[in-house]
Amino acid sequence: MIILVINCGSSSIKYQLLDMKSDEVYDLLAKGLVEKVGLPMGCITHKPTGKDKMYKELSIPDHKIGMQIVLDALVDPEYGVLKSFDDIEAIGHRVVQGADFFSGSAIVNEDVISKIEICCDYAPLHNPAHLLGIRACQHVLPSVPQVVTFDTAYHQTMPDYAYMYALPYEYYEKYRVRRYGAHGTSHQFVADKGAKFVGLDLNNSKIITCHIGNGSSISAIVNGKVVDTSMGFTPLEGMIMGTRCGNIDPNVVTYIMKKENLTPDEMTTIMNKKSGFLGVSGVSSDARDIDTAANEGNYRAKLVFKKLSYDIIKIIGSYIAVMDGVDAIFFTAGIGENNVRLRRRVCENFSYMGLKFDYEANVAQGVDTLLSCPDSKVKVALITTDEELVIARDTMHLVLGE
Ligand code: ADP
Repeated sequence: MIILVINCGSSSIKYQLLDMKSDEVYDLLAKGLVEKVGLPMGCITHKPTGKDKMYKELSIPDHKIGMQIVLDALVDPEYGVLKSFDDIEAIGHRVVQGADFFSGSAIVNEDVISKIEICCDYAPLHNPAHLLGIRACQHVLPSVPQVVTFDTAYHQTMPDYAYMYALPYEYYEKYRVRRYGAHGTSHQFVADKGAKFVGLDLNNSKIITCHIGNGSSISAIVNGKVVDTSMGFTPLEGMIMGTRCGNIDPNVVTYIMKKENLTPDEMTTIMNKKSGFLGVSGVSSDARDIDTAANEGNYRAKLVFKKLSYDIIKIIGSYIAVMDGVDAIFFTAGIGENNVRLRRRVCENFSYMGLKFDYEANVAQGVDTLLSCPDSKVKVALITTDEELVIARDTMHLVLGE
């Protein structure tokens, strides 16, 4: 089944075209990125498998035209991978926020769309863009079934005491204010693949998945079901991230707002876009730049790295307590898959419970690798993530009625 996977942002459209033969057997036909939608001049970078990359600058006033440009690239005589649009059998969309409406992926219909619309309140930067993408696809490929996969769905198994904030209960009832988590597709994929990789039965396991990238979250998963995750009502909660502050005393927010005379929107921007690695180091939001600066002796860059490993250790430690033990810890995403020093620093703190870290194996980057010694009581592994594949699999199953 040929499936187009779409991840629509407010000014971008990321896409992958996959030929899914089964869950495990598939070909990536092409991937690409449309950027600067709505700006005076936009661009598309299209990478067809086995052919040259295509880059074009052109006017992309809205998402409908953006989608049309993606389709044109897919059937382009020189750079295309399809004969006709009709070859696309289904479309799968990533949606950031499904709140407690969705505990799994869903076929798009007007009811699903209206629930995603309600969730715009909780993900104002993301959900409206996803809706634009869904509508654009309905416009350009009206007869092709569409599926939505939610970043929040996998976390819907969290118990009430884990997702509830200790605020007046009426805010939960009136505004659905509670913890939802994020990166669910990645945590699910990594827990499933990682369990197989280290020889655990997922249905009889205690796993901690660490998705450490530009945005970062950690999940505690018992028998394949999430019992806690570090992101909350929005992806701001949890550890220090590229530009997000993670956990802070909520009173700090109103204190700084009063001192600096800031509006709620301005404060939200500071916490989401100007904090984290960027805010503390003053150097960059990118971990590689932080590493370089730290190696040159920059105190604030070193502090970022120390805080990142400290936050991760604290969350993992609390999840081991919550689960009454752990069988495996998996690292994934840009930093988790590549930052050798961070993985070492984190894992060294769990030697007390019999985790024996394999320092030689830990040179690995971006390839599934066992990072614990054979006699380690806790297995540790680098497991690469693939959120698009989860979306393509779910799309295939739902469209086939499975
Ligand atoms: P996003 O949340 O945007 O998907 P990623 O998972 O791609 O983020 O992670 C981005 C982070 O991963 C950046 O901080 C980057 O420095 C880091 N990263 C990516 N590739 C590497 C690499 N090869 N070596 C070290 N760090 C990397």
